[in-house]
Amino acid sequence: MAAPFWKTKTLSEMSREEWESLCDGCGRCCLNKLEDEDTGRYLYTRAACKLLNLETCQCSDYKNRHKRVHDCVALTPQNVPELGWLPESCAYRRLNEGRGLAWWHPLVSGTPETVREAGISVHDEAYSEKGISVNELVDHLWKLPKAKRKAK
Ligand code: SF4
Ligand code: SF4
Repeated sequence: MAAPFWKTKTLSEMSREEWESLCDGCGRCCLNKLEDEDTGRYLYTRAACKLLNLETCQCSDYKNRHKRVHDCVALTPQNVPELGWLPESCAYRRLNEGRGLAWWHPLVSGTPETVREAGISVHDEAYSEKGISVNELVDHLWKLPKAKRKAK
């Protein structure tokens, strides 16, 4: 059997469809983040973008997202290496760093359910940013959990 595309192609060699299928739908990149001025590290909050559907963890207006949320960044093979705020679990970041896809990634497991089982999804953890000011974000910090082990 031929090796799957994510093992044989670089990010820039992937088709549009392959590229889109890499997103595991965790919703982590749609959380508000703060940058620590001293360390340059990014700190996540539980406050999610107003367009994130908290049930499905998908963008509720993907097509128009850049018109509605001006700082929403479209991932590309060129900018992935530069986006220090991408979560370590993110498939694009993982592949760019040569770490492959994890056991819970839907392309590996065959089901999106494993993203929740592994505790990678923001489902049940995040809430909307609505009503939270930029200055209040510091009160909503959240350390992203590491993935749980695969159930035997
Ligand atoms: S963090 Fe990466 S894998 Fe998760 S939703 Fe964002 S782009 Fe997709
Ligand atoms: S506009 Fe959509 S894709 Fe962009 S950060 Fe918000 S929920 Fe995520």
